[in-house]
Amino acid sequence: MNASGGTIVTAPTCGASGTMPAVLRYMKQRHKFSEDNVVDALATAGIIGNIIKHNASISGAEAGCQAEVGSACSMAAAAHAELFKLTIDQIEYAAEIALEHHLGLTCDPILGYVQIPCIERNAVAALRAIDACGLAYFLSDSRKISFDLVVDTMFETGKDMPANYRETSCGGLAKKYQLK
Ligand code: SF4
Repeated sequence: MNASGGTIVTAPTCGASGTMPAVLRYMKQRHKFSEDNVVDALATAGIIGNIIKHNASISGAEAGCQAEVGSACSMAAAAHAELFKLTIDQIEYAAEIALEHHLGLTCDPILGYVQIPCIERNAVAALRAIDACGLAYFLSDSRKISFDLVVDTMFETGKDMPANYRETSCGGLAKKYQLK
């Protein structure tokens, strides 16, 4: 839709806009959640996304794909946790787990298009979001890392990331693909 000039909802960004709807649509269909349930989940995800945007970044050009798809996964994990009525601490923990395990994720779109690796990456993040929520549910008594800490870490990691891996298509998969 992006490449063809279609309409998308940038939640949180254009490149990372597939994860949230994948999780919410699947859960709505499978578990028969209501529209109101989904609206509550979107509101929770919006809070998580805004915290990341305000305290760090949701931009691949600024902090790599960890800031885009990592943030999308974090939002989707929180939304999923909201759907299943986890506690506020477990929601925050789900968002934390989802972002933590995207730390260091580079942005290297082939030929500069937001297609590869972006599309599959959104799908992988959707599955990770669901897993993060499950982990938060089972491990909440033994957690060590806060959401705020991992947001701060993500931003610092992004600032340390060479420009080749921040939406320039000069490194990683984009570079290897063009050389083959
Ligand atoms: S690889 Fe880059 S362009 Fe693609 S989703 Fe990640 S941050 Fe966005």
